[in-house]
Amino acid sequence: MQYYSTNNKNNLVTFETAVMQGLANDGGLFMPSEIPSFERKIFDSLEKFSFQEIAFHIAEKFIANEISNSNLVDIISHAVNFPAPLVKLNDNISILELFHGPTLAFKDFGARFMAKVTGHFVKNRHSELNILVATSGDTGSAVAYGFYDTPGINVYILYPKGKVSLIQEQQLTTLDKNITALEIDGTFDDCQRLVKTAFVDKEFREKKNLSSANSINIARLLPQSFYYFEAYKQVENKKRETIISIPSGNLGNLTAGLLAKKIGLPVTKFIGAVNSNKIFAEYVNEGKFLPRASIQTLSNAMDVGNPSNIARIKELYSDSIEEIQHDIYSESFDDIATRSAIKDVYQKFGYIIDPHGSVGYLALKSYAEKKSLKEYNGIVLETAHPAKFKDVIEEELKVDVEIPERLAECLNKNKATVELSSDYEDLKSFLMD
Ligand SMILES: *Cc1c(COP(=O)(O)O)cnc(C)c1O
Repeated sequence: MQYYSTNNKNNLVTFETAVMQGLANDGGLFMPSEIPSFERKIFDSLEKFSFQEIAFHIAEKFIANEISNSNLVDIISHAVNFPAPLVKLNDNISILELFHGPTLAFKDFGARFMAKVTGHFVKNRHSELNILVATSGDTGSAVAYGFYDTPGINVYILYPKGKVSLIQEQQLTTLDKNITALEIDGTFDDCQRLVKTAFVDKEFREKKNLSSANSINIARLLPQSFYYFEAYKQVENKKRETIISIPSGNLGNLTAGLLAKKIGLPVTKFIGAVNSNKIFAEYVNEGKFLPRASIQTLSNAMDVGNPSNIARIKELYSDSIEEIQHDIYSESFDDIATRSAIKDVYQKFGYIIDPHGSVGYLALKSYAEKKSLKEYNGIVLETAHPAKFKDVIEEELKVDVEIPERLAECLNKNKATVELSSDYEDLKSFLMD
């Protein structure tokens, strides 16, 4: 399978090149040149396959010609090594818990897979690889933990100073060895711009052997489609229509879901649930894509003003807004609604949902009401563990949120960062040294 740039269909590269470059030379995002299909016979007996086996069957279709089956099995066994359980709230609504990985967010799936794939490719190279990653909170820690202590790879995490939670910051800034946290005086969009600028700075990029680990990297996108199949496997009544709601920011998670549908997953509707950063909702509902500066919300990993993966979504639907609207619904909810849904879910179902999942829940409920749906499989992707947003949740619910052991550990460590301005030259000169 070859991969092309969303800026130029004729710019074809191998999977290895796509992974190592992150972003195409022309600034576009890589896309698979064909959409493979998932065998009907596997669908009909999905329950018989383990999560890892499902992951293998999907991954194989996209990369089999470049990574041997035995290596791929090995990569998946290290990357997909925690579960994605579907927890029922009521007859219609379930929560897909994607936070059972080391950093308690769904990004562990993509980041771990990418780290193992990259580590595999780097083994045969002589020069060190430098990975730049911009984060609004959870990406950075997932990537850092995924790549931690990988020979031949250095990771630089750019995060907006003062704009991530204390817990997120501790996760980002307490790893040593090959991981460096860069505290940028600016917003997440500034961090993302810095990374993008470094990539189009061709000479610098080649000199430093730069790669990216944002959700734009194809090796982060592909594994995110695995758990959509794993979710469907756990659905009890497959005769009902399935609707999946995805708390969205940069739209990587949604794009992976759409890819799963193109491969054959029978989902009727995907819901791109957004917070007050409603650029995507405006796009889906009005056909206008108007990127602008992001604003801070409780669901801060979704505070994105210019979602990159829009380019891939347009590509999947040949830039047809009608086709996009056919498969996708989108709605925005503010922090007041987010807080009240956290309460609502707890009071009705005794389930503690985090602010991101809460936005997903609101969008699903709103869609089901609008369509007067009676019986359906509604799945909300719970993208982060509630303990990561302990303060807000305890304020709303007046209950103690227990901190899992793996999170508690990093809270006691000392923060280590390098502070930089949001000026590209500053970043460049730091990386030059
Ligand atoms: C990154 C993140 C999101 C948004 O995912 P995208 O793929 O960027 O749309 C949602 N929730 C949490 C907890 C995240 O970390």
